[in-house]
Amino acid sequence: KDKVKFNVKDSILQCSKIVETQFEKNNIELNITGEDVETVNYMNELQQVVLNILNNAADAAIIKKQIADFDAKVDVEIFIDYGNKIKIVLENNCGKIEDEVMDRMFEPYFTTKFENQGTGIGLYMAKTIIEKNMGGKIFAKNKNDGVIFVIILPLSYY
Ligand code: ADP
Ligand code: MG
Repeated sequence: KDKVKFNVKDSILQCSKIVETQFEKNNIELNITGEDVETVNYMNELQQVVLNILNNAADAAIIKKQIADFDAKVDVEIFIDYGNKIKIVLENNCGKIEDEVMDRMFEPYFTTKFENQGTGIGLYMAKTIIEKNMGGKIFAKNKNDGVIFVIILPLSYY
């Protein structure tokens, strides 16, 4: 297969247009920043991964806003990690994930959403794409007021 290089930040900026109106409508701030780095292949798949994480954050923001209004924020930042890896950090302040959910959310068909609102496929697909296809790593951890998703990808040398 031919190697097709792409700029990670540009591809994320591009796919974020799809959720832009949804974010604006629900008053969720979205920032996409960081370094210009390239990797190879699976651009559309990486965009699907990012879109699912952004959609999940929007869902969490909407749920949290039902309890009390707050300034919902999603930050995406791209780093070069130790000179040979790309790190994409997707952070939100839309509430922590319960331990039971954290343990299982990358499993296929695991969802806490009602029928028609969630399929439970998104994070399973994300893990498959990032780890099986792209040779990277994806994981999540809680912070004080939300969640951090981290994606590690190999840098392109081509
Ligand atoms: P779906 O969105 O269809 O439910 P996913 O695989 O994308 O499936 O996510 C699985 C579950 O992980 C969600 O139902 C939700 O419980 C949890 N989850 C994922 N991202 C977040 C987040 N940012 N905040 C809170 N819960 C989350
Ligand atoms: Mg989802």
